[in-house]
Amino acid sequence: MLNVDVLTAYVSCGAAALVGGAMMQLARIDDPRLKLTITTASLALLVLGVSLGQQVLHDGPLTGLPLFVMMAGTLICVVFFGASVALLSGDKPPGWRLLVLNSVLCLGIALLCLLAPPVWRARLFAVIFALFATVCGFHVWPLLGRPRDRAEWIYAFAVAVFVASSWLRGAMSFITTVQPPGHMLFLPDGLVAPFAVLYSVLPIIVSTTLLHLVNHRLYRKLSQQASTDELTGVLTRRALRDLAPGLLQHHAARRHSVAALMLDLDHFKAINDRFGHATGDVVLRGCGRLLQAQLRDDALLARYGGEEFVVLAPVDDLRGARLIAERVREAIATSPWRNAQGEAFAVTASVGCALIGDRESLDDAVRRADEALYRAKAEGRNQVQVALNAA
Ligand code: GH3
Ligand code: MG
Ligand code: MG
Repeated sequence: MLNVDVLTAYVSCGAAALVGGAMMQLARIDDPRLKLTITTASLALLVLGVSLGQQVLHDGPLTGLPLFVMMAGTLICVVFFGASVALLSGDKPPGWRLLVLNSVLCLGIALLCLLAPPVWRARLFAVIFALFATVCGFHVWPLLGRPRDRAEWIYAFAVAVFVASSWLRGAMSFITTVQPPGHMLFLPDGLVAPFAVLYSVLPIIVSTTLLHLVNHRLYRKLSQQASTDELTGVLTRRALRDLAPGLLQHHAARRHSVAALMLDLDHFKAINDRFGHATGDVVLRGCGRLLQAQLRDDALLARYGGEEFVVLAPVDDLRGARLIAERVREAIATSPWRNAQGEAFAVTASVGCALIGDRESLDDAVRRADEALYRAKAEGRNQVQVALNAA
């Protein structure tokens, strides 16, 4: 069996932590919470790397100040790492003040351990370390409850292994009869090599999975931003294009019809001119909400242009399409609109609707709905016009 001594285990864990911590420093992240997650995890690993890696400067087991640095550093690493896990899990993270206070506590604990008799020193430290690791592990609980992808599982599992190994070491410090010569890992000879391997890969596993998780979250945030209209919260035109084929295929397979509705607010420019752009924005936001409330979950609603919305909704026939169009038109017309000063004003919309033909493209159907909308405008606005069926 591979024979690794504890001091080598310290150095390899320290080196892995330095590499992991440095790798995370390379990440460029603009989301404040995710940036803080990476920064605190990186700091944790760098502190661990320095406090364990200093072993290379010493021939034998650490004593005095180096031992104090090692104990304080590993505890501070757990404090910062716990903050990072809390940030990732969505828990309320500890503030900087609490982190500094905890770090001072770590210095105090390390000093206490240093002053304790050698046999009790390692035991006391191992138990306190396991307690710190457990608090850190609590924050991983929400991740285990709702893992979103494999990396989240691996990350949570790595933290759980770290907590379990801390307790195992704590227990071993009481069971092992052979006292180690001054170092802090009380392990029977047979367990030193597995622990050395575990501790030299854990920092790398944690840092790579954390970077993956953060990237994944940034990607999700960006794709959500790209598919959601910032002002109204409904789909963007681009997202409608992406989602429409799925909706159309789903209903074509069941021989259901889908209607395309094109809605345009009437004389919206006049509302902007009279009450200001901010009131115009409030109206657009309100229309987005009203439309969404009038539609079933299986419909798609997108902001198509400035004050134009497109709806794709499953219907039985053209009559059903018209009913939906009337419902949304009426919801807008009867809503009590007021500006910031409480002054009431009217908002109406014109709607064109078309039943999407079997072999018709979305663009063609929207064009027919738009032609019907044009007629609704020409015939006096605040009304619904229906397009003839596709050829
Ligand atoms: P019509 O009844 O013929 O549709 O007249 P309209 O005034 O609604 O149409 P027009 O195309 O002349 O004006 C649309 C206005 O919508 C002009 C533009 O300033 C306004 N608009 C577009 N996007 C936004 C927006 O995001 N916020 C606000 N407040 N106004 C917007
Ligand atoms: Mg308009
Ligand atoms: Mg318009």
